[in-house]
Amino acid sequence: NLMLDVVRVREDFPILERRVHGDVPLIYLDSAATSQTPTAVIDAMSAYYRTINSNIHRGLHSLADEATAAYEGSREKVRNFINARLTREIIFTRGTTEAINLVANSWGANWLNAGDEVLISVMEHHANIVPWQLLAERLDITLKVIPCDDDGVLDMNAYRDLLGEKVRLVCVNHVSNALGSINPVAEMARLAHEHDALILIDGAQAVPHQQVDVRAIDADFYVFSGHKMYGPTGVGVLYGKEALLEAMPPWQGGGEMIRTVSFENGTLFADLPYKFEAGTPAIAEVIGLGKAIDWLDCTHMGLITRWEQQLMTHATERMLQVDGLRIIGSSPNKAGAISFVVDGAHAQDIGLLIDQLGVAIRTGHHCAQPVLRRFGVDATCRASFAAYNTPEEIDLFVDALERVLTMVR
Ligand code: PMP
Repeated sequence: NLMLDVVRVREDFPILERRVHGDVPLIYLDSAATSQTPTAVIDAMSAYYRTINSNIHRGLHSLADEATAAYEGSREKVRNFINARLTREIIFTRGTTEAINLVANSWGANWLNAGDEVLISVMEHHANIVPWQLLAERLDITLKVIPCDDDGVLDMNAYRDLLGEKVRLVCVNHVSNALGSINPVAEMARLAHEHDALILIDGAQAVPHQQVDVRAIDADFYVFSGHKMYGPTGVGVLYGKEALLEAMPPWQGGGEMIRTVSFENGTLFADLPYKFEAGTPAIAEVIGLGKAIDWLDCTHMGLITRWEQQLMTHATERMLQVDGLRIIGSSPNKAGAISFVVDGAHAQDIGLLIDQLGVAIRTGHHCAQPVLRRFGVDATCRASFAAYNTPEEIDLFVDALERVLTMVR
């Protein structure tokens, strides 16, 4: 029954020692937007620039070979991290957003026909809404929305009803960034497949909090970002089943993604995964992402999951004692984030004032306007947690919130 050693974890994150507004200690509760970066990741990226900086794949010298080995080493770490079968199934992108746009523009634009339906959930991030809306305008496909109940739990009966024979693709997040709800993605995948539809899972808010196994889920596509899982910005992952990726045409063209190019005979594309990695990628960031996975392995995802669940329970209990506070999203299965509103206080005011007390939370629509509208609000405050947060920080946050509320109400 090991416990996470949070004191040791915190030592890996120098930024947590920061003070803001002069001498106020920082309490960082915005990891769902961007998690902090452990020293090992920062050092790996710095070491890359100090020792092996060069372009990958096309070089025929020592630095290029070493950079290539480190870059491809990260691909193997990602494969293992999500239990994909093959490294060919791991495509590096700029982030979740780019990964979804890749699927929409390659798979979607080529495999969807007028009249086809794409199901998305009401609690999607704009990154998993807008690319499908753009596609719908081009192709005359129809988007349909899977609703959720008042607790922020997806309505599985409605989902079953929506799964008609025109549905070709289901797009859903594994964990909602706005509500924290964990969605039953394996069950959703099973149902989608029963209806010959594919499923794309946005795992941006899932991979930092729990072990993910894309084969156990039977995901067709699974996407996530480095900067929400202790890695750097500018890098993310598209996992896709080999046969699907194999059949998909490239989305972006350029260097690195070709076998031969000629004016007479056109272009032969490179094999997977390079077919989808046009141009020089974010090499240092990919290497940093690999280090973030090493860090998660050393720290043990199982311990992080359990620790964060304790933080979530403690925070929920403390927050519900605040007069007039309403939590948006009360699913029994939540991870990482708690959204809330308070009677008589604007989310924006709470955010600004609590920042003066050193507490960083997110306020606004969290790039998920439709689901906030579903709950009758246009903004919430969101406190989100990572392995380095402590129950003491949560107590200080709730105390700060009480102080702020006495000012604004
Ligand atoms: N999906 C979800 C669920 C998210 O939380 C986010 C980031 N807030 C994104 C997609 C977009 O990720 P990125 O900006 O890294 O592309």
